[in-house]
Amino acid sequence: MAQQPAARQLIVIAREGRRTLNIATRDQRELLYLDELAEAFQLAVREDTLARGLTVTYKNRTIILTPDQALASVSGRLVSLSGAPIRDGRRWLMPFDFVSRALSLIYDIKLDLRPASRLIVVGDLRVPAIGIRGEQAGPMARVSLEISPRVSQSITQVPGQILVHFEADLLDVATPTFVVPGLVTGIRTTDQTTLAIDLGPRFRQYRTSMGGDAATLKTTIEILSDETTEPAGPATPAPEAAPEPLATPSTALRTVVIDPGHGGSEDGARGQAGSLEKEITLNVARRLKAALESQLGVRVLLTRDADQMMPLDQRAAIANNNKADVFISLHANSSQQRSVRGAEVFYLSVEGYGDEARRTAESAGHVLPTFGGGTRDIQVILWEMAQSRYIEESAALATMIEEELRTRVDVSQRPVQQAPFRVLVGANMPAVLVEMGFVSNPDEEQRLTSAAHQNLIVQALVNGIVRFRTYLEARRASTAGSAGPPRTPTGAPRP
Ligand SMILES: [Zn+2]
Repeated sequence: MAQQPAARQLIVIAREGRRTLNIATRDQRELLYLDELAEAFQLAVREDTLARGLTVTYKNRTIILTPDQALASVSGRLVSLSGAPIRDGRRWLMPFDFVSRALSLIYDIKLDLRPASRLIVVGDLRVPAIGIRGEQAGPMARVSLEISPRVSQSITQVPGQILVHFEADLLDVATPTFVVPGLVTGIRTTDQTTLAIDLGPRFRQYRTSMGGDAATLKTTIEILSDETTEPAGPATPAPEAAPEPLATPSTALRTVVIDPGHGGSEDGARGQAGSLEKEITLNVARRLKAALESQLGVRVLLTRDADQMMPLDQRAAIANNNKADVFISLHANSSQQRSVRGAEVFYLSVEGYGDEARRTAESAGHVLPTFGGGTRDIQVILWEMAQSRYIEESAALATMIEEELRTRVDVSQRPVQQAPFRVLVGANMPAVLVEMGFVSNPDEEQRLTSAAHQNLIVQALVNGIVRFRTYLEARRASTAGSAGPPRTPTGAPRP
């Protein structure tokens, strides 16, 4: 990670790996050794002692430098440098901007010089610059992050730490010293793409909010101590963007499992322009995961996070094994009629499955599929019965999501429907299947692949889930003490 290197070095990071270049200082100016640049970037350097010229060649493109002149001729074009090359014994020293103003013009791959961070990013690596500010605000601590360019992040809590993980190849970050006695003991990077806020014994909970603009993501993490009187309200006026729901730990909704439909050899629906359902679902699922984690502070799992096959029952099993509170399967639809469009939300229709479930119950054969992990908390219930106990809650979830979708994207004529989707059958929690739109409709296909439209769908789902959480909390509270929602085994015990 691009922390300030202890030695005077500049880091070159590329897909293939990284290397360091030594930094020399002359008259307060920081310079790079030309021979090290040559080795790092496969340059040929030739010194013409008679003409006192220096020729740098990459493939068949050349840079010609003249000692004592802050100029370079790059493929015949003159560019200015902040300083002239300096001879150092048998070596040559170059100003940093030789990389950005000269070398980058003849190099095949994008070179992004970040002098302040002493970093050169080679190619299309995601290396967001992250600014961190920590402040104490009464009994709470506030950590503000500015991330540019924007990358997805997920915020999770583990014992003693809040972890902020970035979807990046490396972080361009310098961690400040930030301590709030008993509450925050430090901020540091724990690996190349994760920041950790170390927590003290007074820590109780945290909440996050996000804002920013197209270029910069601003995330605020408020760390509350045992003295914080709740609710302090959004202490930070949310930056530019619309206010996001603040995360407060909820007992009703801790874990969300998102199921990106299809994958691997199963493409799902295919649009005229070639868009594949399996790719759209995975993209939206990843965005949704990041949004839920950062906005609600919930744990989010994907049933697949790659282009891979996944049997339907296994998808529900992942949700069951992880005690998910909500299961959302993402799909894109297709129709013979190109004009058909709009999102639809489905929950399980128990007709058909109900009969089958009853028959199966009598033979007492199936138990809820699970895999891995221990058996201590596994609920022994019938696979075919699992979802039937949550139909009412699933219907509420479907309605809330549809209402949020409706204000942002087109919905179909029948936006909420019941259908016997296999993937929902075994889910032992409220579960819906969202058909985000029709890839068979050319306009909608184009929209479904755009980041802006995917983000609209994501925000609708996040808001739908926030509303559902409130509904669940009220419902759980009203049945507290009694058996509550049917979370106890109802199926036949395993023989
Ligand atoms: Zn599908």
